[in-house]
Amino acid sequence: MFKAFLIKYAEIGVKGKNRYLFEDALAAQIKYALKKCEGEFLVHKTQGRIYVDALTEFDFEETTARLQKVFGISGICPVVYVEDEGFDKLCLDVIAYLDNVYPDKNKTFKVQARRARKNYPKDSMTINRDMGEAILNAYPSMHVDVHNPDILLNIEIREKIYIYSETIPGPGGMPVGTGGKAMLLLSGGIDSPVAGYMIAKRGVKLDAVYFHAPPYTSERAKQKVIDLARIVSGYTGPIYLHIINFTDIQLYIYEKCPHEELTIIMRRYMMRIAERIAKETDCLGLVTGESIGQVASQTMHSLMATNEVCELPVYRPLIGFDKQEIVQVSEKIETYETSILPYEDCCTIFVAKHPVTKPNIKVIRRHEENLWDKIEELVEEAIGTKELVVCTESGTEVKKNT
Ligand code: ATP
Ligand code: MG
Repeated sequence: MFKAFLIKYAEIGVKGKNRYLFEDALAAQIKYALKKCEGEFLVHKTQGRIYVDALTEFDFEETTARLQKVFGISGICPVVYVEDEGFDKLCLDVIAYLDNVYPDKNKTFKVQARRARKNYPKDSMTINRDMGEAILNAYPSMHVDVHNPDILLNIEIREKIYIYSETIPGPGGMPVGTGGKAMLLLSGGIDSPVAGYMIAKRGVKLDAVYFHAPPYTSERAKQKVIDLARIVSGYTGPIYLHIINFTDIQLYIYEKCPHEELTIIMRRYMMRIAERIAKETDCLGLVTGESIGQVASQTMHSLMATNEVCELPVYRPLIGFDKQEIVQVSEKIETYETSILPYEDCCTIFVAKHPVTKPNIKVIRRHEENLWDKIEELVEEAIGTKELVVCTESGTEVKKNT
C-alpha cells in the first residue's frame, strides 16, 4: 500500500547554506542506506522536504529498518499517494487508507491539508472541513479532536496527492559527513563501538584503528573487531579500519618499563600511533570508549597521562556513562552480542596485578626514556606494516599497506 516515505528531520540550527549541506548529506546517506535494500528508490528534495519514492515493489520492514539507521532522520512517515482525480475520489481513497491503517475506529482524528500546488480547487481549510465530514459519515465511531488527535491525517496536494498519518521514529542526530572525520580507537570491547556510534550520530565520519598482538591475540579477536566495525558501518557508512601489529612495541615496553606502568605506557603509544594515522588521513580528532573510573587506566590521573601525548582533541563520548548505560546503547545498536564474545584483547596481556591508578606523569616520562633506543624504529615499522580493511555491512575489502 505505501509507495513513499516522507523523511522528517530536526531543523534546529540548520539554516541558510547549512540547510543545503545538511539536506544533501542526508539524501546521500539515505541513498547509501537503501542501496542494500530490495527494490529501487528515488530520493528527492521537494520544497524543503525529503521524500523517498519507491519505484518498484519493496520490502516495507527492511526499508524502514534501514532508514531508522540514518542519522539526521527524526521521523519516517510512510506515505500513500494517489492521482488527483477529484475531491470525491480523494475522500474515498482517504477512507480506504484509514480502514487499512486503523482497523480499530474508536479514535479521534484531525485532517491537516497542505497545498503545495495552489491551483487545487479547494483551499486547505475547506479540504480539512469537507474531508472531516466525509470521514465522520463513513466511520461514525470516529471523532474530531483538533487539539490532541489520535490520528493526525496529513493530506498534501502536490502533483500527486500524498496521504500519511504515522511516524516511525528515526535515530536523530546529524547526517554523517556534515561534521568532518575522526579516528576511533576500536577494540573488541563493549565501549568503543558505542563511542563510535555516538560521535557518528553527530554527523562525524569515522575511520578506525585496532591494535593487535599476534600471536598473543588471535585471528578471531581481530575478526571480532572487523565484525564490530561492520555493524557500526551500518550507521556510518564504510569504515576504513587500520590494523596495527603492536606485539613488538608491547614486548619492548614489557622489557624496559616497570610492569605496573605497562598499561599506561602502552596506551600512550596507542594514542601516539592513532594520532599519526589520524593526521595522515585528515581526521580532526581521536575517539575512545573511555569512561571515568571504569578501570585503573581510566582514572582522571591516567586519562591525563594518556591525553598528554596527543595534539588532536580526544573525544570520549562515554566519559560520564555507567557501564549499564553503555550496555543499553550497545544492545540497541546491536554490537553487544559481538562485543561479549570472549576473545583476548592485547591490553589484557601482560597486565600487572596492581597497575598504577595515579600515574605520575614525570615518572612515566622518565621511564619512557628507557625506550628511546629502539621505540621510534618499532613505531615506524608498526605503521609501515599496517593492514587496511574497508568494512561495510555487506562485506570487507582488504587493502594492504596503503
Ligand atoms: P572497550 O570496551 O572499548 O574495549 P575497555 O573498557 O576495555 O574499553 P580499555 O581497555 O581501558 O577499556 O580501553 C580504553 C579505550 O582504549 C577503548 O575504549 C578503546 O577506545 C581504546 N583501546 C583499547 N584497546 C584497544 C585496542 N587494542 N585497539 C584499539 N583501541 C583500543
Ligand atoms: Mg577493551
